[in-house]
Amino acid sequence: MKIAVLTIFPEIFQSFLNTSLLSKAIKNNILSIDVINFRDFASPPHYKVDDEPYGGGAGMLLKPEPIVYAVEKVKETMKDAHVILLSASGTTFTQEKAKEYSQKENLIFICGRYEGVDQRVIDLAVDEEISIGNYVLMGGEIPSMAIIEATTRLIPNVIGNSESVITESFQENLLEAPQYTRPEEFRGLKVPNVLISGHHENIKKWRKEKALEKTKNIKPELLGRV
Ligand code: SAM
Repeated sequence: MKIAVLTIFPEIFQSFLNTSLLSKAIKNNILSIDVINFRDFASPPHYKVDDEPYGGGAGMLLKPEPIVYAVEKVKETMKDAHVILLSASGTTFTQEKAKEYSQKENLIFICGRYEGVDQRVIDLAVDEEISIGNYVLMGGEIPSMAIIEATTRLIPNVIGNSESVITESFQENLLEAPQYTRPEEFRGLKVPNVLISGHHENIKKWRKEKALEKTKNIKPELLGRV
């Protein structure tokens, strides 16, 4: 998969891309992630990327030209790329969306800043506006990182144990059952006997029951879809 991220703060991505399984996937050529400063597509001498909103109002808006030119440039080598604008007012990102994106060859993320982007960016260059939740952040960089992690970990060989993406939360619209590792007892709290019984059928049954119980308590809205 090829990903391009358009941002005016490329430095935010440095440690994200150089750490952990993501950097390994990049080294193994399973993934390529280009972080592009769309200020480079603004006009000299000032390379201005923002301006006041027409009609008045607080703050500054990102101008259309640098972002649209940057998307066009990236698309020269990533023709069919799906273009995602991070936006507080977009459709909410879900595990299903992560699965959908993980099947794509090319993705472009546009990170907004300030009061967001001129509507013509959306009209001319964006396929989908995506939000990571009903709250407002300062920029699209963290949302794009969240989506990149959720998406790329579903690509075969990006994370070590492919079993873990099959048995985790949101599979079959259930949250994951509680999990335990050593020691068997900590501060008086014991690992449930069933998990140390070695009885695989009982363990499976216990996990299903606990997953149902947890989903009912924390995210009952998922159960309507079971
Ligand atoms: N004026 C905008 C509004 O009312 O929706 C908020 C702009 S916000 C301060 C700046 C940028 O952060 C947005 O353009 C977007 O790229 C990003 N952003 C903020 N909250 C987000 C969220 N919940 N999900 C995705 N992106 C978000």
